[in-house]
Amino acid sequence: MTPKSAAAASIASMRPLATVHGYPRQGPGRELKKAVEGYWKGRVTAEALRETAAGLRRANWQQLRTAGVREVPTGDFSLYDHVLDTTLMVGAVPDRHRAALDAGALDGYFAMARGTQDVAPLEMTKWFDTNYHYLVPELGPDTVFAADSSKQRGELAEALAQGHDARPVLVGPVTYLLLAKPAPGVAADFEPLSLLDRLLPVYAEILADLRATGARWVQLDEPALVADRTSAELNAAARAYRDLGGLTDRPALLVASYFDRLGEALPVLAKAPVEGLAIDFTGPAAANLEGLALAGGLPGKRLVAGIVDGRNVWINDLQRSLSTLASLLGLAGRVDVAPSCSLLHVPLNAAIERDVDPQVARWLAFARQKVEETVALAKGLREGTDVIAGLLHANSSALASRSSAALTRDPAVRARTASVTDADGRRAQPYPQRAAAQRARLGLPLLPTTTIGSFPQTGELRAARADLRAGRLGSEDYDKRIAEEIRDVLAFQEEAGVDVLVHGEPERNDMVQYFAEQLNGYLATRHGWVQSYGTRYVRPPILAGDVSRPEPMTVEWTRYAQSQTSRPVKGMLTGPVTMLAWSFVRDDQPRAETARQVALALRDEVADLEAAGTAVIQVDEPALRETLPLRAEGRPAYLAWATESFRLATGGVRADTQIHTHMCYAEFGDIVSAIADLDADVISLEAARSHMQVAGELAAAGYPNEVGPGVYDIHSPRVPDSDEVASLLRKGLGAIPAERLWVNPDCGLKTRGWPEVRQALEHVVEAARTVRTEV
Ligand code: GLN
Ligand code: ZN
Repeated sequence: MTPKSAAAASIASMRPLATVHGYPRQGPGRELKKAVEGYWKGRVTAEALRETAAGLRRANWQQLRTAGVREVPTGDFSLYDHVLDTTLMVGAVPDRHRAALDAGALDGYFAMARGTQDVAPLEMTKWFDTNYHYLVPELGPDTVFAADSSKQRGELAEALAQGHDARPVLVGPVTYLLLAKPAPGVAADFEPLSLLDRLLPVYAEILADLRATGARWVQLDEPALVADRTSAELNAAARAYRDLGGLTDRPALLVASYFDRLGEALPVLAKAPVEGLAIDFTGPAAANLEGLALAGGLPGKRLVAGIVDGRNVWINDLQRSLSTLASLLGLAGRVDVAPSCSLLHVPLNAAIERDVDPQVARWLAFARQKVEETVALAKGLREGTDVIAGLLHANSSALASRSSAALTRDPAVRARTASVTDADGRRAQPYPQRAAAQRARLGLPLLPTTTIGSFPQTGELRAARADLRAGRLGSEDYDKRIAEEIRDVLAFQEEAGVDVLVHGEPERNDMVQYFAEQLNGYLATRHGWVQSYGTRYVRPPILAGDVSRPEPMTVEWTRYAQSQTSRPVKGMLTGPVTMLAWSFVRDDQPRAETARQVALALRDEVADLEAAGTAVIQVDEPALRETLPLRAEGRPAYLAWATESFRLATGGVRADTQIHTHMCYAEFGDIVSAIADLDADVISLEAARSHMQVAGELAAAGYPNEVGPGVYDIHSPRVPDSDEVASLLRKGLGAIPAERLWVNPDCGLKTRGWPEVRQALEHVVEAARTVRTEV
């Protein structure tokens, strides 16, 4: 049988089954993190690390199989990152990493991920609009690809040997190239996609290898096709799948996409000579339903319908999903059921969350529960809803309890958001008037110096917090410890000559969690770890209900800090967009509504800070840019609610109260007008690495308020000398007039050590003093 007829046979003969695109790698006790970090520290051998990894894969597959998944994914597992794995699979190793790789595959792999004393790692960036970070491939005109299918083959062989029906999952060639960037030294306008013809033969070889190993299907993930794509890019996708589809020695191909609608890419993929598509039908991707019908469906092909949201933590509406699935049945030769994307983005198991109110726990679905939902939906689709009647009943009663619960329906919160007016979200005076009032109140020099908020989170501080949690330290002693830290931080800033001080945020574990713990409507999990990058896992809070603020959150420490110094101390809050972006957000109302609730809670905090005498209040929005929808069509609506919620939080203050905001993670070019819409008096931005580029961008767009483009790159332990800072400042002055230019680091200092911070800030102040004499 040729592969194509084998695939055709399996399409025709199969009734709906359940599958997944990928599963969390960590293990129930975060075994992977422990093993990898143990290996780095020399406490775990390479052999032991490999055994741990194989054990986790075995357990995951077994669990999926037991739950009723009939085709398990392989190759999605990773010791660090699956895009890095893809880079190795196609042999696109930067020259600077070759020596490390030649010396040892595992150490070379980690050198690419984390760098060594001698070589810089690959750059890391966000995987689409998720909070997972991947390592960015570096490509150039001289890149030579070479197939190395060993990892994919090895994992497939493992699963097959364990008796599973398995489907290797690979990052597809088009997405791989679209996620890449020009290697250092290569012209910035080099387009990695121009390497497609060189890359396809490598994929062809890998597909043949996987077929030889026993793969019947291979999944190629092409999430990049859900963003806005040029016709050249769409043509490249068409060519890629025409070529790969035209191969004779290959398994059946399933091209997967997720995170948004495919749009113009849908007909391209539907027409491609591949045997199946995996398509997301959740959230904004629900538009794929219509798109698929318009494209004439996928006659004779396999459709893997992503119907269980793989990115949030809420139970599925099974009845609704079944009716969507039923409408899909007529549109493809065969319909299978899956989560919308890899379950990598959700925690493992909601059933072990003992601290969550059981009423609320019924609404939660983490990876394990999402697998159960997927299996149930496939069964209902296959055998009729009667066979899952019990589940459907339990599901609809859980959904009903959610929509009527006091947690999700707080009349006071609802009444308040409903009565918000446009004027609530506007400062009473225009910026020039405010600036004059603030100048009179604050009496700052030209080019005022400040920092972004946090100071080093030392081991002692973290230990004190752990001791407090464990009951080894009383809360009074803990508070004493924090007060002492605040005094030290203030004393240092005064000595160094900083103009607008911060208290250093020593009491905060995390800028979102700290507030989530104090607001009504948020839940914390105990085991809800999600991979952020490599061995870093986070436990995002769950925004489950209507949000309100039972009592002031930051006023006491801010007041205390201000009582220790005559210079202004900034109040420091996390903005509404960031409070949503770094949490799991409820899916039973628009995010705009949730953001508005958070904004109003923050507005109360801002008012209390102002009443306590705080003259400068910073509301951080580092996530504003990264939450931008993948497709341009979604951006205006997003930016409208994002900026409205910021203004709602900050718009109620007096003219002489100065509102700051802060953003990092560069690339602000496409949101400059949204930044202006925030109408903050001062914005500080990451800029040091891009040599103040953002200052020019803001100036070019006519940004009217004050700006602090970062002059100290806090991502590096390197201490800039004062000449270097001064020359960045002069560059900033080339774009922003001295009356509106602030002097500050790129971001908070919490990840840095005290010795570097001390020196660097002294240099920053010195540079500001020097440049002040020149203007
Ligand atoms: N105020 C925060 C800090 O300094 C801001 C952090 C951030 O932008 N990510 O730590
Ligand atoms: Zn920042």
